Amino acid sequence: MPIPMIKKLAVIGVGLIGGSLARALREGGHVGEVVGFGRSLGNLETAADLGVIDRAEVSVAATVRDADMIVVAVPVGCMESIFSQLATSMMDGAVVTDVGSVKRGVVAMARTALGVRCSAFVPGHPIAGTEHTGVSASKADLFEHHRIILTPEDDTDVAAVARVRAMWQAAGGDVVSMSVAEHDDILAVCSHLPHVLAYMLVDLLIRRDDHKTTFDLAAGGFRDFTRIASSDPTMWHDICLGNRDALVKVLKDYQQNLDDLLSAIDRGDGQWLMDTFTRAKRARDTYIVKHQN
Ligand code: NAP
Repeated sequence: MPIPMIKKLAVIGVGLIGGSLARALREGGHVGEVVGFGRSLGNLETAADLGVIDRAEVSVAATVRDADMIVVAVPVGCMESIFSQLATSMMDGAVVTDVGSVKRGVVAMARTALGVRCSAFVPGHPIAGTEHTGVSASKADLFEHHRIILTPEDDTDVAAVARVRAMWQAAGGDVVSMSVAEHDDILAVCSHLPHVLAYMLVDLLIRRDDHKTTFDLAAGGFRDFTRIASSDPTMWHDICLGNRDALVKVLKDYQQNLDDLLSAIDRGDGQWLMDTFTRAKRARDTYIVKHQN
């Protein structure tokens, strides 16, 4: 039997992302043992029944004992407390990574909580997911051909970065590196903004007196646009507050765009509408062709 890349994987938060990573590594034979920790016993029992983890533990300390790779896959708002517990319980030589959708806040939490052990922490974010949550929604091929962003800091241990990179590549991901600031600015535009817009569109509709008829008549376009409004509110609450500066900036840009649209429609400026919609359609069509997989 070849020695697996990871002897013991500790997954803190065995949900969609943590569960999918565990599945991918197990299916590929890259991990010896997978131990999970979470909030509710029910989800961990399901994870064990599905074969995503070998066993669950009742504390962070017990979960990470002897683990050479620790993946923190809880909502961003709970990470600080997890990092604090890791600081006193992870073994020397262990590598810690996270999957949080924002990086500035997570890195700050890790610095404070992990202290001298922070060089073993490799911030990460898989650009893959769905609007569903929990281990039942996890799947082994979730990360295949998807970008995985790592945002190591100057003092991050290069060997730790190499191990996290190798782990994600084994799970099928295409790993790229960038700075924390670049990550948060880009994700604010291409991920965080669409999610909050989807929530706000649905919220606008439900506050109307005629919302029952409106929902009855809503068709595929509404369904496509609002799919991500079915995402977990806790996760998106944490992301909005965790990437506050970048999101406020991009929301102001969007507000300006909406003001431009409103005034073009109000003054009957068909040329503005045609130019803007044509430019947007061309850009989206190109994006779709380029990213068909
Ligand atoms: P999820 O399916 O809800 O999984 C989160 C897991 O964390 C759950 O199993 C939950 O346990 C556990 N958990 C929650 N609070 C906890 C706490 N205080 N202590 C210990 N465990 C706790 O969510 P997810 O979609 O996998 O998201 C996890 C992370 O991935 C988030 O940081 C998110 O930003 C990031 N992410 C998500 C996506 C996406 O599309 N969903 C994509 C990329 C990155 P219970 O099941 O018992 O509640």
